[in-house]
Amino acid sequence: MLQIKNISKKYTTGDFVQTALNNVSLNFRDNEFVAILGPSGSGKTTLLNIVGGLDRYDTGDLIINGISTKKYKDKDWDSYRNHTIGFVFQSYNLIPHQSILSNVELALTISGISKKERKERAKQALTDVGLGEQIHKRPNQLSGGQMQRVAIARALVNNPDILLADEPTGALDSDTSVQVMELLKEVAKDKLVIMVTHNPELANLYANRIVRVKDGHILDDSNPFELNDKKIAPPEHKNMGKSSMSFLTSLALSFNNLKTKKGRTFLTAFAGSIGIIGIALILSLSTGVNQYITDIQKDTMTSYPITIEQKTFDLSSMMNAGEQASKKKVNHKLNAVFSNGTDIMMTSKMATSISENNLTEFKKYLDNKDSEINNYVGENGIVYSYDVPFSVFSYDSDNTLVNTNGSTFSNSNSNTSSIAQMNGSMSVSMNADMSTSMSTDMMTGNINSSPFTEMLSGKNDELVSDVIKDNYKVVYGDWPKAYDEVVLVLDKNNEVSLTTLYYLGLLPSKDYKDILKQINKGEEVNPETSKISYEDICNHNFYLIADSDLYQKNRSDLFKYVGNDNNKVEELLKSGITLKVSGIIRQTSDDSSNIQISGSVGYTKALTNYLINYGNKSDIVKAQKNSPDVNVLNGLHFNPDNDSIKIDDAKTYLSNLSTSDKANMWKSMAMTAYADSPEQIQMLDSMTETQLAAMLDSYLENPKDEEMLSIYDNYIDVGSYDDNMKNFGYVSLGAPSSISIYADTFEDKDSISDCIDKYNKDVKDDKDKITYTDYVALLMSSITTIINVITYVLIAFVAVSLIVSSIMIGIITYISVLERTKEIGILRAIGASKKNISQVFNAETFIIGLFSGIIGIGITCLLLLPINAIIHAVTDSTNVNAFLPVQSGIILIVLSVILTLIGGFIPAKKAAKKDPVAALRSE
Ligand code: ADP
Ligand code: MG
Repeated sequence: MLQIKNISKKYTTGDFVQTALNNVSLNFRDNEFVAILGPSGSGKTTLLNIVGGLDRYDTGDLIINGISTKKYKDKDWDSYRNHTIGFVFQSYNLIPHQSILSNVELALTISGISKKERKERAKQALTDVGLGEQIHKRPNQLSGGQMQRVAIARALVNNPDILLADEPTGALDSDTSVQVMELLKEVAKDKLVIMVTHNPELANLYANRIVRVKDGHILDDSNPFELNDKKIAPPEHKNMGKSSMSFLTSLALSFNNLKTKKGRTFLTAFAGSIGIIGIALILSLSTGVNQYITDIQKDTMTSYPITIEQKTFDLSSMMNAGEQASKKKVNHKLNAVFSNGTDIMMTSKMATSISENNLTEFKKYLDNKDSEINNYVGENGIVYSYDVPFSVFSYDSDNTLVNTNGSTFSNSNSNTSSIAQMNGSMSVSMNADMSTSMSTDMMTGNINSSPFTEMLSGKNDELVSDVIKDNYKVVYGDWPKAYDEVVLVLDKNNEVSLTTLYYLGLLPSKDYKDILKQINKGEEVNPETSKISYEDICNHNFYLIADSDLYQKNRSDLFKYVGNDNNKVEELLKSGITLKVSGIIRQTSDDSSNIQISGSVGYTKALTNYLINYGNKSDIVKAQKNSPDVNVLNGLHFNPDNDSIKIDDAKTYLSNLSTSDKANMWKSMAMTAYADSPEQIQMLDSMTETQLAAMLDSYLENPKDEEMLSIYDNYIDVGSYDDNMKNFGYVSLGAPSSISIYADTFEDKDSISDCIDKYNKDVKDDKDKITYTDYVALLMSSITTIINVITYVLIAFVAVSLIVSSIMIGIITYISVLERTKEIGILRAIGASKKNISQVFNAETFIIGLFSGIIGIGITCLLLLPINAIIHAVTDSTNVNAFLPVQSGIILIVLSVILTLIGGFIPAKKAAKKDPVAALRSE
């Protein structure tokens, strides 16, 4: 039983107040067919909407089965609409993109009924209205009457107590109108049917009660239902419970919904994915470029470690001085001759720029695990080099012995020595690239013309670093596997400098001597290209002698250098180390910054270690260690305490001299004494060595102390312990000759420089400060800035595209929700709660977001193929590869979902809040 008690409803639009219902009271029986008649604008729809719970009354009360609705909450009204009321509209209000079965099912879905039951009941309802055969048709495939019957089926499927119909036949012709009226009359047999119409004939024909309204009040009621107020209990307050739908149901509903409009869904998802594609592409490009930058940095840093030499030369301060000198302004008139002091300044600068580093202290700092610097050391780590003196000899094809450092050729002809030396240095700079030739060795003038170079060793005791293996290819044989194996290093064109080939004894040395003679005569030499087979190279042996072996004990228990005695050397060769050529390697990379091996023959750290061990155990090193005060080469004290020791040492020295040494000594002594008398000097020149030596002996027969002291001071070089130990090949592992610190990025390298600066600040003794030249800083200071700028620009791009696409996705979702206002109205009319509405829309945007994320990533991956092809074609290299990391891809899909949800959330919320009546009115 439904009671309307003194209900009034006003609409306020601006200043204008329209009274739609004015104190209306009506009672309805549980089953009757009521027709409400009245002119347009008289308040019929308003009355119906209030009865149906779509609209709220201002004053009065609506009592349903004795329960007042005054205190109804939203969810009570939702439940009331869903369970008690069925709505039929003039304009059918079917959801156009769903089949009529789904349309009918919808009301059941909202009340949370299982899928199977839903389907059965919907089918039954459609059969009841005579449309059992057409359940899979879309609304627009039906006639008006059929659509209205679907609407009636939808209204009845939930088995409501009350059916409300607002001009159900308003849009139908008279034949179909009759069919619909028959249907309603049938329904009214066991339900209350309230129908608004302005067709009095139909009302008279089918309805069993006619209520006339005008201007918001009741004019006339043909069959009023009077209640005795006293008999009826006063209205109760009771809630109806709620209509419910799980999120899974709404997800399934949304998915089905989306399936029915595939094209539209795809377009929305695609539009949303454009933003994702934008971000993903920019991200891929920036990942590719960043990767490239990182690679370049790493490559550069492997070629240019921070190298600290024991003897160092501050190139940057030199360069600064040079720059300043060239910029110096002339501040005198051009009216006389002026001196230019740049040369002196540069020379003094050069002298002061050379300094010694205390690498022993610095190594302690590096070895300390807590030192900050270790955080920045790169993959190749820190490499310590030790100066181990050794000589390598070889026999050429004529069986002539050659010293591979080129001294064979400089000794044989003193005139050519400078040229040989020059060639030696040239070969170093020609072999290596120009940039590599800028090694500190070159700068300090410490030219080592030996073609033997230690190759960078790898991590975990690998003999050859991967960096070397990356840049050099084995063309014959294999990499060295033992300390006595070496490789020959070729350039890109399989070439080795001719000088080096002569030095190594790979070409006959007499030919080189001829060339040197020709050069000395001032003739131009244009050597032909020689060819040597790989096999011949690998069958060639080198013989290594550690320098400690070049000293031999003589009768007086002193050691003597025998390195310039060819017979002794050849004897030593038999017991020396035979170096085998294990392979031939060729430089592969065109990139000049990648060169690692500066010499033509590469040996491994294993050989260095072997020689350190060998030298430290040698007799001469042991002997010198045992007598730290006395030089084992000449028996003299390093630091004599008093004059008597000096006199004794002078005597020992003289007694050990050979005849020719004595002659030389006497000659130079006499030269100083007879400086004023040319005849005497001429006489000296005519004497033989024996005569001269005899004169010295007679002079020293009864020497005075002063004479001996004078000889000691002027003619005797005592030497030093440290120099001796170094020459004998003694190496302390704590005192490297150079330290190379490898970093992976420019940034790390800068941090390492900062750490060294800090170290310099912290050391107590000024002598322990470290000086070195930061070549990378010299060469690339601007590049670091450029790289930083590029990185920031890329980040900015990603950020901008992220913002732009977020807005875009938001707008697209917003529009697609706005567009469906009517659908929201329908859902509300059949009982969906506000929460249901936002749930359905959120589920839908979730699916679309997921879909657009996946489409976006898919399209990006496809686009990357042509994009990379273009990048490769434009840059003419394959160094830059745009790619999307898997992680980023997943994050972008999640992002797409979140953005879409946010974009859809606000309009969904708004849609849910929409007044259902207004929503239904919207087109
Ligand atoms: P009927 O259905 O009898 O044609 P209605 O119930 O739709 O009439 O409207 C009754 C009166 O209330 C009309 O004057 C109409 O202009 C006014 N009205 C209805 N709905 C609104 C609204 N949402 N805002 C303002 N005025 C309204
Ligand atoms: Mg109306």
